[in-house]
Amino acid sequence: MIPYARQWISSADIDAVVDVLNSPWLTQGPVVQAFEKALCAQSGAAHCVAMNNATAALHIACLAVGVGPGDLVLTVPNTFVASANAAVYCGGTVDFVDINPRTLCMDADALEEKLASLAAKGKPVKAVIPVHFAGLSCDMAAIARVAKSYGCAIIEDASHAIGGLYQNAPIGNCTHSDITVFSFHPVKIITTGEGGALLTNNGDLFERARRLANHGLIRNADDFAVRDQPEWFGEWAYQQVDLGYNYRITDFQCALGLNQLNSLKSWINRRNQLAAVYRGAFVDLDVECQRVPDSYLSAYHLFIVQLSPAANRRRVFNLLRQNGIGVNVHYIPVHTQPFYQARGFYLGQFPVAEAYYRRTLSLPLYPKLTEEEQQQVISQFIAVLRQCSV
Ligand SMILES: *Cc1c(COP(=O)(O)O)cnc(C)c1O
Repeated sequence: MIPYARQWISSADIDAVVDVLNSPWLTQGPVVQAFEKALCAQSGAAHCVAMNNATAALHIACLAVGVGPGDLVLTVPNTFVASANAAVYCGGTVDFVDINPRTLCMDADALEEKLASLAAKGKPVKAVIPVHFAGLSCDMAAIARVAKSYGCAIIEDASHAIGGLYQNAPIGNCTHSDITVFSFHPVKIITTGEGGALLTNNGDLFERARRLANHGLIRNADDFAVRDQPEWFGEWAYQQVDLGYNYRITDFQCALGLNQLNSLKSWINRRNQLAAVYRGAFVDLDVECQRVPDSYLSAYHLFIVQLSPAANRRRVFNLLRQNGIGVNVHYIPVHTQPFYQARGFYLGQFPVAEAYYRRTLSLPLYPKLTEEEQQQVISQFIAVLRQCSV
């Protein structure tokens, strides 16, 4: 089976991990800091906290911007459940904004409508979480203009998108947001096994995120909340000032991530090359690919193809799987999940995301995919579509 996504681990990656395993620091050592510094350099953001996964980073991001019990947070239905769950972890309430039918990312006009209708009902929105679907940035300038006019914090879920560009600048630079989150799960662009990171240009958000990801502890005596108990001071001292979590990542994971970053640029180029070949091969078919606006570079976490509305997606999916092509579907709209249906959401509520979902397939795309394998995917895809249209 040719999978839809796959990591690429080199012998240099393995050596880097082994070096850390032979060092005194397995966790909270120098390699975590080196990885965080490298992520800042790559994205252009001022601060970074690496964490054990992107779900944790989204949770901490929501807490850092102040999402608390009863607060309203908006994201899109076309995402992994973690984008929405992060707000629920904080006691917040999630609502959704439909996607743009061409870019498949949060639609800025739909966001404006949603914020206006919520404001009319006297419901302020604490934070907006746009998702850079399949590696393509949302129109962040437009989203930020709308979100800021309603006083919302902005958290970019860039789990798919490290290495991509928006307006010719790296995704993750936080020019149009408070915080950006990356994922380093093996199916994503670079991996640390499990892993994620939070990036921000805001020093206060950074300090809060750093603290919340490590039990809510302060170790720097200058920052201590309580200072009048001499017995409680000394080299050993720490103070817990918040209810934090243990969302730390290990040094050996960061050694992997740090070395993976060396390949980021060439992998994004390779993903874009492969995507261009798919697009070229499909121009005469009755299918639709994601629109990439000018001045955007998709990181191409996924290659998305929407079948004709008349096609039987289930049949196409099953036949491709039977023929060794590991297609997948991204995403079942989050508001249709039983957990969210039980919270009042219903089918028909976000028609663009739902119509998209019924037609979509993710084709194999990863840097190690060979030309021969890709040709196999293309010929099988074309053959199966023909078979399904007779
Ligand atoms: C993968 C993913 C996450 C969660 O990432 P983990 O690192 O697995 O926790 C969150 N949001 C989106 C859009 C994702 O694709």
